[in-house]
Amino acid sequence: MKFTKIAAISATMVMGATAVSAEDFISIGTGGVTGVYYPTGGAICRLVNKNRKEHGIRCSVESTGGSIYNINTIRSGELEFGVAQSDWQYHAYHGTSKFEEAGAFENLRAVFSVHPEPVTILARRDSGIDNITDLPGKRFNIGNPGSGTLGTWEVIEETMGWERGDLALAAQMKSSETPGALCDNSIDGYFWLVGHPSGVTSETVASCDAKIVSAVAPEITALVEDKPYYRTATIPGGMYPGNPDDIVTFGVGATFVTSADVSDDAVYIVAMAVLGNLDDFRKLHPAFANLKAEEMIADSLSAPLHPGAIRAYKELGLMD
Ligand code: GLU
Repeated sequence: MKFTKIAAISATMVMGATAVSAEDFISIGTGGVTGVYYPTGGAICRLVNKNRKEHGIRCSVESTGGSIYNINTIRSGELEFGVAQSDWQYHAYHGTSKFEEAGAFENLRAVFSVHPEPVTILARRDSGIDNITDLPGKRFNIGNPGSGTLGTWEVIEETMGWERGDLALAAQMKSSETPGALCDNSIDGYFWLVGHPSGVTSETVASCDAKIVSAVAPEITALVEDKPYYRTATIPGGMYPGNPDDIVTFGVGATFVTSADVSDDAVYIVAMAVLGNLDDFRKLHPAFANLKAEEMIADSLSAPLHPGAIRAYKELGLMD
């Protein structure tokens, strides 16, 4: 149900002088249940719902295909909020890359950015994959349809000059299915853009003796230099069992987005629930440990901030 519509109905009812306690609903599109987007949506809703009696909004989370699905579904008005990679936020707002055909999503609005998402390549130790450049000829999961991961894979393919057929198998399983497939030896590796640390990554490296490998190549360096939404990233050595060395890769930021059609009040309440309780939010997932308010309201955001979010950040003294 749409917040905007319900709000309009309750306003009419209030004007009709009947006391109403109709609750408004907002939904957050996330990702697969074993990823970090899903608990990110859960953490946001938990803080919003804590004060439900005061503001009357009920927040719920949907598991989805990921970034691109979330942006498209916000555009069609079926979701009010979503988590999305910063590269796809950029392309959706500007109508470039995968969004060229649909055209610029001018009503896309940023709320805040969350954790960094490095390109994370997991490989079986017997696969012969030590770096991104070893992927041709391998059986590899490139991300499910609708994920930002698959979209970014397509950019990597183009950058590296690879064809889809250069992989022995280009699987498109959901993120929740990939650790099992790696353990069963039905794929040599998989990749996704995901926050760290995360339970599913620890589990994969521990139970399948998998390793995390680097994404280092001159083409990647050039890509990162060329695009504002990519940056070099490191997955620290020792974060996961059996992976003692720093992994050099590149990545994006996870961001929280909405539409200009969602009311200022709803966005204000959500932005306030998170940025006004950042100490609590940080404790809700290990990937949030280093979040800083000043960075969250500015970094990795290419769509304009929603006015409801600006109101919250001004009130919190984070903006002039
Ligand atoms: N970045 C991934 C995507 O859009 C999702 C990661 C996650 O679920 O935590 O596709």
